[in-house]
Amino acid sequence: MAVYKVVEIGDPVLKEIAKPIKEITPNIIKLLENMADTMYAYNGVGLAAPQIGVSKRAIVVDVGEGLIELINPEIIEVFGEEKDIEGCLSIPGVQGEVVRAQKVTVKGLNRYGEEIVIPAEGLLARAFQHEIDHLNGILFVEKAENIVRKGR
Ligand SMILES: [Zn+2]
Repeated sequence: MAVYKVVEIGDPVLKEIAKPIKEITPNIIKLLENMADTMYAYNGVGLAAPQIGVSKRAIVVDVGEGLIELINPEIIEVFGEEKDIEGCLSIPGVQGEVVRAQKVTVKGLNRYGEEIVIPAEGLLARAFQHEIDHLNGILFVEKAENIVRKGR
């Protein structure tokens, strides 16, 4: 259990394609726990492993409905389109409007190595898309319109 400093834009780890996790070792469990601790400490709704400097395909999300941990997450279905405001713990003080799918179905592994499939819409769907983008080296500001900078 540990809170990490979130890596900020400009760090090359955020532009890497994160590597698939082949085996769920105790270190991967620890990674998931550190990611959740860090997300909650920063009051975020999601965090991807590269944001604590680890280029592996793992995300955590909690939009107020409980913690979801996903290893090697993939979007397997998308539906509709919705524009809404986003921010990112790695880009403090910046917000912008991003068009995302309104609904997605996400597939991945839980910490026990079991495959889980999660249908999501609204904020949860947006959080999944944002975090999975991180695993592909994509930051929301590359997709955003009407970017606003606030004081940090
Ligand atoms: Zn982000």
